Amino acid sequence: VVVSFEDQPDQTKASPLRGKNGKNGKSVQTWVVVEVKVPKGSGKGLVRNRDPILTREEVRVPQPVPGQKVELHLRNEVLKRPEGALQLHDLGQLPLLHEPAVLHALELRFRGDCVYTLTGPMLLAVNPFRALPKLYGFERLHSFIQEGKGSKGEEDQNAEAEGIQEPHIFGVAKAAYDGVWHRSLGQTVLVSGESGAGKTETTKFVMRFLALAGAGGAESSMSVVERQVLDSIPVLEALGNAKTLRNENSSRFGKYIELQFCPPEGLAPRLIGAHTHTYLLEKVRVVHQQQGERSFHIFYQLLAAAKTSSNSVEFLSSMPAEQLAELKAENFSYLRNSKCFHLDSDTTEEQTFLETLNAMRAFGLGDDLSSILSTLLAVLYLGNLGFRAPTGNSEASEVESPTTPVTPLARAAQLLGLDAQQLASACCKRTMQAPGEGVITMTNSVEKAIDSRDSLARHLYDALFTFVVSQINATVSESGGAAWSQTVGGRSKLLPFVGVLDIFGFEFFEQNSLEQLFINFTNELLQQYFNEVIFKHEADLYRREGISWDPLDFPDNHVIVDLVGGKPGKSPLGILPMLDEECITTGGSSEGWCSKMQRTHGSNPHFEVVKLRQNNFIVHHFAGPVEYTSKTFVEKNRDALGADLVKCMKSSSMDFISKLFRDSDRTFGTKETVASTGVRRTKAKLYTVSSEFRGQLQNLMERIRATEPHFVRCIKPNQQNIAGCFERRSVVQQLQYQGVLQAIEVSRVGFPVRLKHRQAVKEFICLTPDRTQVESQAARGQLSSAARILFEHLSEPLSPSPRTPGSRTPRTPRRSGI
Ligand code: ATP
Ligand code: MG
Repeated sequence: VVVSFEDQPDQTKASPLRGKNGKNGKSVQTWVVVEVKVPKGSGKGLVRNRDPILTREEVRVPQPVPGQKVELHLRNEVLKRPEGALQLHDLGQLPLLHEPAVLHALELRFRGDCVYTLTGPMLLAVNPFRALPKLYGFERLHSFIQEGKGSKGEEDQNAEAEGIQEPHIFGVAKAAYDGVWHRSLGQTVLVSGESGAGKTETTKFVMRFLALAGAGGAESSMSVVERQVLDSIPVLEALGNAKTLRNENSSRFGKYIELQFCPPEGLAPRLIGAHTHTYLLEKVRVVHQQQGERSFHIFYQLLAAAKTSSNSVEFLSSMPAEQLAELKAENFSYLRNSKCFHLDSDTTEEQTFLETLNAMRAFGLGDDLSSILSTLLAVLYLGNLGFRAPTGNSEASEVESPTTPVTPLARAAQLLGLDAQQLASACCKRTMQAPGEGVITMTNSVEKAIDSRDSLARHLYDALFTFVVSQINATVSESGGAAWSQTVGGRSKLLPFVGVLDIFGFEFFEQNSLEQLFINFTNELLQQYFNEVIFKHEADLYRREGISWDPLDFPDNHVIVDLVGGKPGKSPLGILPMLDEECITTGGSSEGWCSKMQRTHGSNPHFEVVKLRQNNFIVHHFAGPVEYTSKTFVEKNRDALGADLVKCMKSSSMDFISKLFRDSDRTFGTKETVASTGVRRTKAKLYTVSSEFRGQLQNLMERIRATEPHFVRCIKPNQQNIAGCFERRSVVQQLQYQGVLQAIEVSRVGFPVRLKHRQAVKEFICLTPDRTQVESQAARGQLSSAARILFEHLSEPLSPSPRTPGSRTPRTPRRSGI
């Protein structure tokens, strides 16, 4: 027991002097007496047990003196034996379920390399931060593929569901695969967790399982498509992942990968295609990274390849030697400012680059490779473009004179197939259509020119990323994903797919901006869905079964969802729709938006203005309060790429570049005038980042809701990303904001013990004097009717109850059929 004094942070270890133990000397300590070991008169106030696994019980001691005995009441029981924890596959089996016990069980399992634990329908995955070959090797994967193979019908499904295998991510993948196979129902594996918790690795395990399941587990039997689906991963990672302070390989975009299987008739379904939807690429990383972080991997990979003389990359080997010599990360301002170049990895960046290129070729990007690499270098050269104000005109700008024989402007222009002067002019000037005056040209200040340059670099990279993803989709999805449907009875029906969602977890930093609001809104929606599935499903189940229960006030975050996203067609507008309004308003600003929000949502308990920081506001998310700094919200939401830059890029002599900007009018936030039929009025519609993202989210949620969910919660055991370290405080926080603790609480309040028909029959058949009928039903595989007959027998007062008076009735809920 560790106690501490409120005004003296140093913790003091105090050993229990005496305590009351449970039966058999096992685990139920109800109280302990601890001796306070502090110097005389040093503290007053609260003696608090600081060991989170035991209890949060605390005791007030007015003036503790050395040797004083303090009694702490402990309410709980903890798992004493590590072996017990290793066999505890589902936290629901904990005899007393609460935060400390859950934490302790997870830690014991983590230390025994059991990184997966179920809590009801949710799989918790604690990141081991070290390779566990046995856990993921061929044998293991194969054992899951083979599990219940060829099973059909109730009996086998019951056998499967009995949980022969311990919790594992392959088990989740298998359940999803079986859902498609045996029930022809779409499935989604929702993987969540904070950065570095292991979401992407988990996603890869699921994809590997699903690609191999139809091939009988043998890599050599994999089809071209199955292989391609797995090959798409490194390409997406090269372009969309980066080293951050929290994760060497952090995904800087969200993704939902739909894995399409051939119609599940006959033999085991096989993967026939995939479609990846991506969300919110963090394109600002191209121009700026925090100290100690890097830009996207692909830049460093390309530069590492440029270093080696034996170049197998045609684009590089055809480059003049002096240009090749310039290609060092330290030479590019977009890469050098964060002072971080190195990546901890088992493979060299050059090797990874060659693999990425090979994968790209396999996706039909071979012809575009040179253009892709050229665009990447152009982005880097753009970053070196400096501007200055011409003498006597601080409101204008021009590109700085060259310091080297070749200017970054010339390099960037050449790599983009543009005229250098045209590119310079598009950054330093802007043209506008003035009513009645035709086109007028205005100058950009140096600051504005830098903004234009950075904006161009961001949009170029984003467009490149979108292009590569769409090319992968075109190659790997049999019919473009959206057309994965078949016509049944005159109606189009979506063929079942398994979707895997790997999306950023809840975020709160010292400074939180629009990106965090988007991310946290996404998590609110996913949490709302989770609540619906877990909690509402629970309530419905009890209602349907006619079992009375005391429905806990289960968490419901719809108020926060409405606060941020608004309700369609209803007032008041949510925070994000209000931001859109502000972006359309002439002269709209973040300050204006903030004060309007205060007026509209000031009385909402989930919204708060920060008195001392006028333009800051707090949203009380389900996971906790987050303070947002509204300063750049309007600008970021507009995310406009100047019309002159768009025009300039469209005029590129390289088809590849002009095509990247073909749809830019829509994508980059310019106004679109829509004529409404019949009425001679036009309606201005603005494409903001927020409206586009909310549209994507709506689509995502609709797709997810049409499938059966499988929740995987990834937990990061420590913030240093090291093996063997389990920081309880951080873990308990994650359990809290991922809704795990609430879910556990709800399931414990109700009927936590649920038996499958087969298991119920097996366990209770000994209680019936007339086994024949039950056994004959069971022998025919009619397990639900066997269970029904059995329980009908048991409910008849045939024999005196073996229970002692006052003991509790075993509460086995009647699930379907019983
Ligand atoms: P982000 O949100 O930043 O993308 P993430 O949740 O996707 O983070 P991952 O990139 O999947 O995190 O995992 C971070 C690192 O943790 C991996 O690079 C790997 O080193 C380690 N890791 C994750 N899962 C496992 C696992 N099951 N076994 C071994 N190591 C793992
Ligand atoms: Mg990731």
